Amino acid sequence: MARNKATGRRQQKPQHNTGQPGLIISHYGVAVLVRFDNGDEQPVKVKRNSDHVVGDRVMVIGERVTSLARRNALRRRDPFGKVRTLAANLDLLGIVVAVRPQTPDGFIERVVVAARAADIEPVLIVNKQDLPGSADFDSQLQRDFPAMVRLSVSAKQGDGLEHLRHKLAGAGRSALVGVSGSGKSSLLNALCPGIELETGALNEEEHGCHTTSVSTLLALPTGGELVDTPGFRDFSPVDVSSEDLAHWFPGVMSVLEEQSCRFRNCRHRQEPGCCIKQAVDQGTFSEERYQLYLNTLQELEQLETARNEGRKNPFCR
Ligand code: GDP
Ligand code: ZN
Repeated sequence: MARNKATGRRQQKPQHNTGQPGLIISHYGVAVLVRFDNGDEQPVKVKRNSDHVVGDRVMVIGERVTSLARRNALRRRDPFGKVRTLAANLDLLGIVVAVRPQTPDGFIERVVVAARAADIEPVLIVNKQDLPGSADFDSQLQRDFPAMVRLSVSAKQGDGLEHLRHKLAGAGRSALVGVSGSGKSSLLNALCPGIELETGALNEEEHGCHTTSVSTLLALPTGGELVDTPGFRDFSPVDVSSEDLAHWFPGVMSVLEEQSCRFRNCRHRQEPGCCIKQAVDQGTFSEERYQLYLNTLQELEQLETARNEGRKNPFCR
């Protein structure tokens, strides 16, 4: 029986007639690699815009692959309004940030909202601890996201990787997101020696390409599984309503756990008796982060209006 060059595993001959359950472990754009429960693997062609993603449980019948029900999926809206599914059936989402390159304002908040709404635990991975300015950056993140698990690491020098390995091993299936250049490939290389992903990715928007275009599920030698995903500079949550936003938004949620607004359906804008607005006025919730909440709220409301009017993209009238 033939073997897959990358994994060394036995490769399954296409089965006809009977369906076989398996898991998508790689996505090549026009094909996926399915691992069956007995360990055999089979590449299957898929349509380029099919919604199959790494982490999907599937049924393979002959040359056809059908996704089974998902526990969750991480989805984002790209700058053109198109919904992109990144991975399915995740337990943990590592948000990789570094002092350089800068992560755009609001990126972390939006990823956290998307993860929490999908019942995936978001964890901040603060990479490049060896760079000057890292300690201040780390303290700022601690102030802004006090309720989040934060792991400080250096993929280059190995600091903090033991903690990260431990967290990933205990989580189950994880994925890393972050802007290009934050160090996702370097972390994957450090966690999974031998995979040798190319690092120093070109910026996706600037050059129209990135090094990690193929998504793969990696089994970590120290336990747990990790999906690599491409880098991107924006992250708009998909499966969150404007009404639910406050519930998932970092900082807002912490205030609401302690206090409540006068109106149950308060959107925390100008409503009287709003405890979020009060927290901003008293300086316990920063004006800057409140503004990020309002921006995201407005964006979600625009999407909802567009959807109600039957438009796919709110930015095209
Ligand atoms: P990705 O685009 O998120 O996959 O980022 P890469 O892993 O390709 O890393 C981008 C650049 O940052 C590369 O030049 C890496 O060598 C560098 N880099 C990654 N991790 C570290 C780190 O911990 N410290 C330092 N100083 N540089 C790092
Ligand atoms: Zn309110």
